[in-house]
Amino acid sequence: MNNTIKLLLKQGIGGPSEPIVKAGDAVKKGTLLAVPKGLGSNLHSSVYGTIAEITENCITIQADDNQPDEFEKISCNGSIADIVKEAGIIGMGGAGFPSNVKLETDLNGGVIIANGVECEPLLKHNIRQITENPEVIYRGILYAMKAANAKRGILAIKRKNAEAVNSFKAVIKPHDNIEIAELEDLYPMGEERAIVREVLGELLKTDQLPSAAGAVILNVETLSRITEAVELHKPIVSKNITVVGKLKSGKDSKTFLDVPIGTSVSSLIEMAGGIDGEYGEIIMGGPFTGHSTTLDSPITKTSGGIIATMEFLKAKGKLGLLVCACGANEGRLREIAEKMNGDVVAVERCKQAVESRGALKCENPGNCPGQAEKIMKLKKAGAESLLISNCSDCTNTVMCVAPKLKMPVYHCTDHVMRTVGHRLIRRLP
Ligand code: SF4
Repeated sequence: MNNTIKLLLKQGIGGPSEPIVKAGDAVKKGTLLAVPKGLGSNLHSSVYGTIAEITENCITIQADDNQPDEFEKISCNGSIADIVKEAGIIGMGGAGFPSNVKLETDLNGGVIIANGVECEPLLKHNIRQITENPEVIYRGILYAMKAANAKRGILAIKRKNAEAVNSFKAVIKPHDNIEIAELEDLYPMGEERAIVREVLGELLKTDQLPSAAGAVILNVETLSRITEAVELHKPIVSKNITVVGKLKSGKDSKTFLDVPIGTSVSSLIEMAGGIDGEYGEIIMGGPFTGHSTTLDSPITKTSGGIIATMEFLKAKGKLGLLVCACGANEGRLREIAEKMNGDVVAVERCKQAVESRGALKCENPGNCPGQAEKIMKLKKAGAESLLISNCSDCTNTVMCVAPKLKMPVYHCTDHVMRTVGHRLIRRLP
Protein backbone atom coordinates (compact mmCIF):
# COMPACT_ATOMS: atom_id res chain seq x y z
CA MET A 1 0.00 0.00 0.00
CA ASN A 2 1.48 3.34 -0.93
CA ASN A 3 1.74 6.10 1.67
CA THR A 4 0.27 8.95 -0.34
CA ILE A 5 -3.20 10.16 0.64
CA LYS A 6 -5.08 12.56 -1.64
CA LEU A 7 -7.97 14.47 -0.10
CA LEU A 8 -10.13 16.18 -2.69
CA LEU A 9 -11.26 19.64 -1.58
CA LYS A 10 -14.70 18.94 -3.02
CA GLN A 11 -16.01 15.77 -1.38
CA GLY A 12 -19.74 16.15 -2.04
CA ILE A 13 -22.42 18.71 -2.93
CA GLY A 14 -21.27 22.34 -2.74
CA GLY A 15 -18.06 24.04 -3.73
CA PRO A 16 -14.50 23.03 -2.86
CA SER A 17 -13.43 23.72 0.73
CA GLU A 18 -10.70 26.22 1.45
CA PRO A 19 -7.40 24.90 2.90
CA ILE A 20 -6.33 26.23 6.31
CA VAL A 21 -3.01 24.34 6.34
CA LYS A 22 0.13 24.66 4.23
CA ALA A 23 2.70 22.37 2.64
CA GLY A 24 5.15 21.05 5.20
CA ASP A 25 2.67 21.06 8.12
CA ALA A 26 2.59 17.96 10.27
CA VAL A 27 -0.97 16.67 10.70
CA LYS A 28 -2.70 14.09 12.85
CA LYS A 29 -5.68 11.89 12.04
CA GLY A 30 -8.59 14.29 12.53
CA THR A 31 -6.71 17.58 12.04
CA LEU A 32 -8.98 20.10 10.33
CA LEU A 33 -7.50 20.80 6.88
CA ALA A 34 -10.10 22.81 4.99
CA VAL A 35 -13.41 24.58 5.62
CA PRO A 36 -16.33 25.21 3.24
CA LYS A 37 -16.91 28.66 1.78
CA GLY A 38 -20.65 28.06 1.42
CA LEU A 39 -22.47 24.75 1.09
CA GLY A 40 -19.94 21.96 1.62
CA SER A 41 -18.19 20.23 4.48
CA ASN A 42 -15.18 20.45 6.76
CA LEU A 43 -12.29 18.29 5.58
CA HIS A 44 -10.08 16.51 8.12
CA SER A 45 -6.87 14.57 7.73
CA SER A 46 -7.48 10.82 7.54
CA VAL A 47 -3.92 9.94 8.59
CA TYR A 48 -0.87 11.04 10.57
CA GLY A 49 1.65 12.57 8.19
CA THR A 50 2.99 15.70 6.51
CA ILE A 51 1.25 17.90 3.94
CA ALA A 52 3.19 17.29 0.74
CA GLU A 53 1.26 19.54 -1.65
CA ILE A 54 -1.83 21.69 -1.91
CA THR A 55 -3.41 22.37 -5.30
CA GLU A 56 -6.66 23.94 -6.41
CA ASN A 57 -8.47 20.60 -6.02
CA CYS A 58 -6.56 18.50 -3.58
CA ILE A 59 -4.45 18.23 -0.45
CA THR A 60 -1.79 15.51 -0.69
CA ILE A 61 -0.42 14.02 2.51
CA GLN A 62 2.65 11.86 2.88
CA ALA A 63 1.41 9.42 5.52
CA ASP A 64 3.65 8.25 8.36
CA ASP A 65 4.44 4.55 8.62
CA ASN A 66 3.02 4.50 12.12
CA GLN A 67 -0.72 5.22 12.24
CA PRO A 68 -2.10 5.18 15.81
CA ASP A 69 -5.85 4.67 16.29
CA GLU A 70 -6.17 7.91 18.28
CA PHE A 71 -7.53 10.96 16.46
CA GLU A 72 -7.82 14.68 17.02
CA LYS A 73 -11.32 15.34 18.36
CA ILE A 74 -13.68 17.99 17.04
CA SER A 75 -14.08 20.81 19.51
CA CYS A 76 -17.77 21.58 19.04
CA ASN A 77 -20.17 21.12 21.96
CA GLY A 78 -23.31 22.60 20.36
CA SER A 79 -26.45 20.90 19.06
CA ILE A 80 -26.35 17.51 17.31
CA ALA A 81 -26.56 19.31 13.94
CA ASP A 82 -23.64 21.56 14.97
CA ILE A 83 -21.52 18.54 15.93
CA VAL A 84 -22.40 16.82 12.64
CA LYS A 85 -21.39 19.96 10.73
CA GLU A 86 -18.11 20.25 12.62
CA ALA A 87 -17.37 16.57 11.91
CA GLY A 88 -17.77 17.18 8.16
CA ILE A 89 -20.52 14.59 7.76
CA ILE A 90 -22.22 14.39 4.37
CA GLY A 91 -24.42 11.73 2.78
CA MET A 92 -22.08 8.76 2.54
CA GLY A 93 -24.42 6.68 0.39
CA GLY A 94 -23.29 8.70 -2.62
CA ALA A 95 -25.40 11.86 -2.45
CA GLY A 96 -22.85 13.93 -0.52
CA PHE A 97 -25.38 16.43 0.83
CA PRO A 98 -24.31 17.99 4.17
CA SER A 99 -26.09 15.99 6.88
CA ASN A 100 -26.32 18.90 9.32
CA VAL A 101 -28.65 20.70 6.87
CA LYS A 102 -30.97 17.66 6.85
CA LEU A 103 -30.88 17.47 10.63
CA GLU A 104 -31.83 21.13 10.94
CA THR A 105 -35.24 20.24 9.42
CA ASP A 106 -38.06 20.39 11.97
CA LEU A 107 -40.04 17.25 11.18
CA ASN A 108 -42.61 18.14 13.79
CA GLY A 109 -43.01 14.55 14.96
CA GLY A 110 -42.17 12.94 11.58
CA VAL A 111 -39.83 10.09 10.77
CA ILE A 112 -36.12 9.41 10.25
CA ILE A 113 -35.58 6.70 7.65
CA ALA A 114 -32.25 4.89 7.69
CA ASN A 115 -31.41 3.94 4.11
CA GLY A 116 -29.98 0.44 4.28
CA VAL A 117 -31.34 -0.54 0.89
CA GLU A 118 -27.90 -0.75 -0.75
CA CYS A 119 -29.61 -0.93 -4.10
CA GLU A 120 -26.63 -1.20 -6.45
CA PRO A 121 -25.88 -4.86 -7.22
CA LEU A 122 -22.64 -6.31 -5.74
CA LEU A 123 -22.11 -3.57 -3.13
CA LYS A 124 -22.22 -5.11 0.35
CA HIS A 125 -20.53 -2.79 2.85
CA ASN A 126 -23.80 -1.29 4.17
CA ILE A 127 -25.34 -4.71 4.75
CA ARG A 128 -22.15 -5.92 6.43
CA GLN A 129 -22.28 -2.95 8.80
CA ILE A 130 -25.97 -3.52 9.63
CA THR A 131 -25.24 -7.19 10.27
CA GLU A 132 -22.10 -6.75 12.35
CA ASN A 133 -22.70 -3.47 14.13
CA PRO A 134 -26.40 -2.54 14.16
CA GLU A 135 -26.12 -0.72 17.52
CA VAL A 136 -24.08 2.17 16.15
CA ILE A 137 -26.61 2.74 13.34
CA TYR A 138 -29.51 2.39 15.79
CA ARG A 139 -28.08 5.06 18.08
CA GLY A 140 -27.48 7.25 15.01
CA ILE A 141 -31.21 7.02 14.22
CA LEU A 142 -32.01 8.10 17.79
CA TYR A 143 -29.63 11.10 17.53
CA ALA A 144 -31.15 12.06 14.16
CA MET A 145 -34.68 11.73 15.59
CA LYS A 146 -33.73 14.05 18.43
CA ALA A 147 -32.07 16.58 16.12
CA ALA A 148 -34.90 16.74 13.58
CA ASN A 149 -37.77 16.43 16.07
CA ALA A 150 -38.95 13.06 14.72
CA LYS A 151 -41.09 10.64 16.71
CA ARG A 152 -40.39 7.54 14.63
CA GLY A 153 -37.40 5.80 13.09
CA ILE A 154 -37.46 3.21 10.31
CA LEU A 155 -34.69 1.10 8.78
CA ALA A 156 -35.43 0.54 5.08
CA ILE A 157 -33.70 -2.61 3.89
CA LYS A 158 -34.24 -5.26 1.22
CA ARG A 159 -36.08 -8.35 2.48
CA LYS A 160 -33.41 -10.61 0.92
CA ASN A 161 -30.88 -9.49 3.57
CA ALA A 162 -32.40 -11.69 6.26
CA GLU A 163 -29.28 -11.86 8.44
CA ALA A 164 -28.97 -8.07 8.58
CA VAL A 165 -32.72 -7.70 9.25
CA ASN A 166 -32.51 -10.13 12.18
CA SER A 167 -29.39 -8.47 13.51
CA PHE A 168 -31.09 -5.06 13.54
CA LYS A 169 -34.31 -6.50 15.00
CA ALA A 170 -32.28 -7.78 17.94
CA VAL A 171 -31.25 -4.25 19.01
CA ILE A 172 -34.68 -2.60 18.73
CA LYS A 173 -36.14 -1.44 22.05
CA PRO A 174 -39.97 -1.07 21.91
CA HIS A 175 -40.12 2.35 23.62
CA ASP A 176 -37.75 3.90 21.00
CA ASN A 177 -40.40 3.67 18.25
CA ILE A 178 -37.98 2.29 15.67
CA GLU A 179 -39.05 -0.37 13.20
CA ILE A 180 -37.95 -2.10 9.99
CA ALA A 181 -39.48 -1.76 6.51
CA GLU A 182 -38.55 -4.66 4.23
CA LEU A 183 -38.43 -3.84 0.52
CA GLU A 184 -38.37 -5.88 -2.69
CA ASP A 185 -35.10 -6.62 -4.48
CA LEU A 186 -35.63 -4.23 -7.37
CA TYR A 187 -33.59 -1.29 -8.69
CA PRO A 188 -33.90 1.63 -7.73
CA MET A 189 -35.54 0.89 -4.36
CA GLY A 190 -32.77 2.89 -2.65
CA GLU A 191 -33.72 6.15 -4.39
CA GLU A 192 -35.10 8.54 -1.75
CA ARG A 193 -38.48 9.09 -3.36
CA ALA A 194 -38.84 5.34 -3.98
CA ILE A 195 -38.19 4.76 -0.27
CA VAL A 196 -40.80 7.36 0.72
CA ARG A 197 -43.32 5.72 -1.63
CA GLU A 198 -42.62 2.18 -0.44
CA VAL A 199 -42.33 2.98 3.28
CA LEU A 200 -44.81 5.84 3.77
CA GLY A 201 -47.14 5.25 0.81
CA GLU A 202 -46.67 8.74 -0.66
CA LEU A 203 -45.42 9.47 -4.18
CA LEU A 204 -43.50 12.77 -4.10
CA LYS A 205 -43.14 15.05 -7.10
CA THR A 206 -39.70 15.14 -8.72
CA ASP A 207 -38.82 18.46 -7.08
CA GLN A 208 -40.06 17.53 -3.61
CA LEU A 209 -37.77 16.44 -0.80
CA PRO A 210 -38.66 13.61 1.63
CA SER A 211 -39.41 16.33 4.21
CA ALA A 212 -42.61 17.03 2.19
CA ALA A 213 -43.75 13.62 3.49
CA GLY A 214 -42.48 14.38 7.00
CA ALA A 215 -39.28 12.37 6.55
CA VAL A 216 -35.54 12.79 6.52
CA ILE A 217 -33.56 9.94 4.92
CA LEU A 218 -29.98 9.21 5.96
CA ASN A 219 -27.76 6.40 4.72
CA VAL A 220 -26.83 3.82 7.39
CA GLU A 221 -23.10 4.62 7.25
CA THR A 222 -23.90 8.32 7.62
CA LEU A 223 -25.93 7.48 10.74
CA SER A 224 -23.05 5.49 12.20
CA ARG A 225 -20.72 8.47 11.61
CA ILE A 226 -23.26 10.70 13.39
CA THR A 227 -23.02 8.36 16.39
CA GLU A 228 -19.21 8.56 16.29
CA ALA A 229 -19.31 12.35 16.06
CA VAL A 230 -21.76 12.77 18.95
CA GLU A 231 -20.28 10.13 21.28
CA LEU A 232 -16.57 10.22 20.43
CA HIS A 233 -16.30 13.68 18.86
CA LYS A 234 -14.79 11.92 15.87
CA PRO A 235 -14.64 13.70 12.49
CA ILE A 236 -15.10 11.85 9.22
CA VAL A 237 -11.74 10.30 8.42
CA SER A 238 -12.68 6.96 6.88
CA LYS A 239 -15.13 5.23 4.56
CA ASN A 240 -16.59 1.76 4.17
CA ILE A 241 -16.02 0.32 0.70
CA THR A 242 -16.78 -2.73 -1.45
CA VAL A 243 -14.18 -3.94 -3.95
CA VAL A 244 -15.28 -6.50 -6.54
CA GLY A 245 -14.65 -7.70 -10.06
CA LYS A 246 -11.81 -9.28 -11.99
CA LEU A 247 -9.63 -9.95 -8.96
CA LYS A 248 -7.06 -12.64 -8.26
CA SER A 249 -8.88 -13.35 -5.01
CA GLY A 250 -12.08 -14.40 -6.81
CA LYS A 251 -15.42 -12.96 -7.81
CA ASP A 252 -17.05 -12.44 -4.42
CA SER A 253 -17.46 -8.87 -3.17
CA LYS A 254 -14.83 -7.86 -0.59
CA THR A 255 -15.81 -5.27 1.98
CA PHE A 256 -13.42 -2.99 3.87
CA LEU A 257 -14.53 -0.93 6.85
CA ASP A 258 -12.88 2.33 7.90
CA VAL A 259 -10.53 2.85 4.96
CA PRO A 260 -8.78 6.26 5.27
CA ILE A 261 -10.43 8.78 2.95
CA GLY A 262 -7.95 9.69 0.22
CA THR A 263 -6.64 6.11 -0.18
CA SER A 264 -5.99 5.34 -3.85
CA VAL A 265 -8.10 2.98 -5.91
CA SER A 266 -4.96 0.93 -6.68
CA SER A 267 -4.23 0.46 -2.95
CA LEU A 268 -7.74 -0.81 -2.35
CA ILE A 269 -7.55 -3.17 -5.31
CA GLU A 270 -4.25 -4.52 -3.93
CA MET A 271 -5.89 -4.98 -0.51
CA ALA A 272 -8.57 -7.01 -2.31
CA GLY A 273 -6.01 -9.26 -4.00
CA GLY A 274 -5.05 -7.33 -7.16
CA ILE A 275 -6.48 -7.27 -10.68
CA ASP A 276 -6.44 -10.59 -12.51
CA GLY A 277 -4.81 -9.81 -15.87
CA GLU A 278 -6.23 -7.49 -18.52
CA TYR A 279 -9.32 -5.50 -17.61
CA GLY A 280 -11.94 -3.33 -19.31
CA GLU A 281 -12.29 -0.42 -16.89
CA ILE A 282 -12.25 0.48 -13.22
CA ILE A 283 -15.55 1.83 -11.90
CA MET A 284 -15.95 4.05 -8.85
CA GLY A 285 -19.46 3.45 -7.49
CA GLY A 286 -22.01 0.81 -8.35
CA PRO A 287 -22.77 -0.93 -11.68
CA PHE A 288 -25.78 1.32 -12.45
CA THR A 289 -24.54 4.78 -11.45
CA GLY A 290 -20.78 4.46 -11.06
CA HIS A 291 -18.31 6.22 -13.32
CA SER A 292 -15.04 5.03 -14.80
CA THR A 293 -12.01 6.05 -12.81
CA THR A 294 -8.24 5.63 -12.74
CA LEU A 295 -6.01 3.56 -10.47
CA ASP A 296 -4.45 6.67 -8.91
CA SER A 297 -7.79 8.32 -8.05
CA PRO A 298 -8.55 8.67 -4.33
CA ILE A 299 -11.69 7.54 -2.53
CA THR A 300 -13.89 10.25 -1.03
CA LYS A 301 -16.58 10.49 1.66
CA THR A 302 -19.14 9.36 -0.94
CA SER A 303 -17.26 6.47 -2.56
CA GLY A 304 -19.01 3.12 -2.19
CA GLY A 305 -17.69 0.60 -4.68
CA ILE A 306 -14.59 -0.06 -6.72
CA ILE A 307 -15.13 -2.50 -9.57
CA ALA A 308 -12.55 -3.96 -11.96
CA THR A 309 -14.37 -5.23 -15.03
CA MET A 310 -13.61 -7.68 -17.82
CA GLU A 311 -12.82 -6.30 -21.24
CA PHE A 312 -15.79 -4.91 -23.19
CA LEU A 313 -17.67 -7.04 -25.70
CA LYS A 314 -18.18 -5.44 -29.10
CA ALA A 315 -21.60 -4.01 -29.95
CA LYS A 316 -23.52 -5.44 -32.91
CA GLY A 317 -25.04 -2.92 -35.30
CA LYS A 318 -25.91 0.72 -34.83
CA LEU A 319 -26.85 1.61 -31.26
CA GLY A 320 -29.86 3.42 -29.86
CA LEU A 321 -29.51 4.66 -26.29
CA LEU A 322 -32.42 4.53 -23.83
CA VAL A 323 -31.55 6.68 -20.83
CA CYS A 324 -32.96 6.27 -17.31
CA ALA A 325 -33.04 8.94 -14.59
CA CYS A 326 -31.80 6.53 -11.94
CA GLY A 327 -29.15 4.58 -13.87
CA ALA A 328 -26.25 5.59 -16.10
CA ASN A 329 -26.81 9.00 -17.66
CA GLU A 330 -26.44 9.77 -21.37
CA GLY A 331 -22.76 10.69 -21.03
CA ARG A 332 -21.95 7.41 -19.31
CA LEU A 333 -23.96 5.41 -21.89
CA ARG A 334 -22.06 7.14 -24.69
CA GLU A 335 -18.79 6.27 -22.96
CA ILE A 336 -19.81 2.60 -22.67
CA ALA A 337 -20.94 2.62 -26.31
CA GLU A 338 -17.53 3.92 -27.35
CA LYS A 339 -15.77 1.24 -25.31
CA MET A 340 -17.95 -1.34 -27.08
CA ASN A 341 -16.94 0.18 -30.45
CA GLY A 342 -20.61 1.05 -30.91
CA ASP A 343 -21.92 3.71 -33.27
CA VAL A 344 -24.66 5.73 -31.50
CA VAL A 345 -27.36 6.83 -33.96
CA ALA A 346 -30.19 7.91 -31.64
CA VAL A 347 -30.96 8.73 -28.01
CA GLU A 348 -34.26 8.57 -26.13
CA ARG A 349 -35.12 9.04 -22.47
CA CYS A 350 -37.57 6.96 -20.50
CA LYS A 351 -40.70 9.13 -20.52
CA GLN A 352 -40.70 9.24 -16.72
CA ALA A 353 -37.20 10.78 -16.70
CA VAL A 354 -37.78 14.53 -16.44
CA GLU A 355 -35.49 17.50 -15.82
CA SER A 356 -35.65 18.77 -12.26
CA ARG A 357 -33.18 21.23 -10.74
CA GLY A 358 -30.63 20.54 -13.48
CA ALA A 359 -30.73 16.75 -13.22
CA LEU A 360 -32.92 13.94 -14.50
CA LYS A 361 -35.44 12.66 -11.97
CA CYS A 362 -37.88 9.79 -12.32
CA GLU A 363 -41.55 10.60 -11.78
CA ASN A 364 -42.21 7.18 -10.26
CA PRO A 365 -38.89 5.39 -9.64
CA GLY A 366 -38.89 1.76 -10.66
CA ASN A 367 -42.50 1.58 -11.96
CA CYS A 368 -42.28 1.21 -15.74
CA PRO A 369 -44.43 3.54 -17.87
CA GLY A 370 -43.92 1.24 -20.91
CA GLN A 371 -40.98 1.47 -23.28
CA ALA A 372 -42.44 0.27 -26.61
CA GLU A 373 -42.92 3.78 -28.00
CA LYS A 374 -39.32 4.77 -27.23
CA ILE A 375 -37.93 1.58 -28.74
CA MET A 376 -39.95 2.13 -31.93
CA LYS A 377 -38.58 5.69 -32.14
CA LEU A 378 -35.02 4.43 -31.78
CA LYS A 379 -35.59 1.79 -34.46
CA LYS A 380 -37.09 4.37 -36.79
CA ALA A 381 -33.99 6.54 -36.27
CA GLY A 382 -31.80 3.69 -37.51
CA ALA A 383 -30.90 1.81 -34.31
CA GLU A 384 -30.25 -1.91 -34.82
CA SER A 385 -29.54 -2.67 -31.17
CA LEU A 386 -30.16 -0.99 -27.81
CA LEU A 387 -27.89 0.14 -24.99
CA ILE A 388 -30.02 0.91 -21.96
CA SER A 389 -29.59 2.02 -18.36
CA ASN A 390 -33.15 1.30 -17.22
CA CYS A 391 -34.41 0.15 -13.84
CA SER A 392 -35.38 -3.49 -13.24
CA ASP A 393 -39.05 -3.01 -14.20
CA CYS A 394 -38.34 -1.00 -17.36
CA THR A 395 -35.61 -3.38 -18.51
CA ASN A 396 -38.18 -6.14 -18.15
CA THR A 397 -40.48 -4.15 -20.45
CA VAL A 398 -37.70 -3.54 -22.97
CA MET A 399 -37.16 -7.29 -23.06
CA CYS A 400 -40.85 -7.78 -23.88
CA VAL A 401 -40.47 -5.64 -27.00
CA ALA A 402 -36.92 -5.49 -28.39
CA PRO A 403 -36.38 -9.23 -29.09
CA LYS A 404 -39.61 -9.26 -31.16
CA LEU A 405 -38.07 -6.47 -33.27
CA LYS A 406 -34.83 -8.51 -33.50
CA MET A 407 -32.93 -5.77 -31.65
CA PRO A 408 -30.19 -7.09 -29.34
CA VAL A 409 -30.23 -5.39 -25.90
CA TYR A 410 -27.17 -4.35 -23.88
CA HIS A 411 -27.50 -2.95 -20.35
CA CYS A 412 -25.00 -0.49 -18.84
CA THR A 413 -24.27 -3.05 -16.10
CA ASP A 414 -23.57 -6.00 -18.45
CA HIS A 415 -19.76 -5.91 -18.37
CA VAL A 416 -19.82 -5.79 -14.55
CA MET A 417 -22.33 -8.60 -14.18
CA ARG A 418 -20.53 -10.81 -16.70
CA THR A 419 -17.24 -10.24 -14.87
CA VAL A 420 -18.55 -11.86 -11.68
CA GLY A 421 -20.95 -14.37 -13.27
CA HIS A 422 -24.01 -12.52 -11.94
CA ARG A 423 -27.39 -12.81 -13.72
CA LEU A 424 -27.70 -9.97 -16.24
CA ILE A 425 -30.26 -7.18 -15.68
CA ARG A 426 -32.96 -8.29 -18.12
CA ARG A 427 -36.27 -10.04 -17.42
CA LEU A 428 -37.59 -9.95 -13.87
CA PRO A 429 -37.48 -13.42 -12.34
S1 SF4 B 1 -39.28 4.38 -14.76
FE1 SF4 B 1 -37.76 5.10 -16.26
S2 SF4 B 1 -36.67 6.80 -15.35
FE2 SF4 B 1 -37.81 5.72 -13.76
S3 SF4 B 1 -36.36 4.30 -12.86
FE3 SF4 B 1 -37.43 3.18 -14.48
S4 SF4 B 1 -36.22 3.49 -16.37
FE4 SF4 B 1 -35.53 4.96 -14.83
